[in-house]
Amino acid sequence: MDNDCIFCKIINGEFGTEFVYENEHLVVFKDIHPKSPVHLLVVPKLHVASLNELDDRELLAELMLGVKEVTKKIGLKSYRTQINTGKEAGQEVFHLHIHVLGK
Ligand code: AMP
Repeated sequence: MDNDCIFCKIINGEFGTEFVYENEHLVVFKDIHPKSPVHLLVVPKLHVASLNELDDRELLAELMLGVKEVTKKIGLKSYRTQINTGKEAGQEVFHLHIHVLGK
């Protein structure tokens, strides 16, 4: 938990954000500014600033499995995933997350 991190606060339930999916490793919630009819964020519960800081192979696998689990849950068969890493690539929130975009 990073006290200055908005996604840590969301994970901690401070904003009452609804989770589309949750397991012991991650939460999934809707992006507040959707760029597609379905725009979800798959977010590890552990605070990790970006993909560059994550070497835990198990957690990396869990995040991709989380994408599959949530898309299966909501019946989304076709979608794009995106991970912005670093400011120049457009990363705004420095808590690793996978965008899931679909119609
Ligand atoms: P990125 O540019 O990859 O860091 O993406 C950060 C994403 O987080 C953006 O698409 C924002 O719209 C989204 N976002 C920021 N604050 C919130 C929030 N409180 N709840 C849901 N999504 C958020």
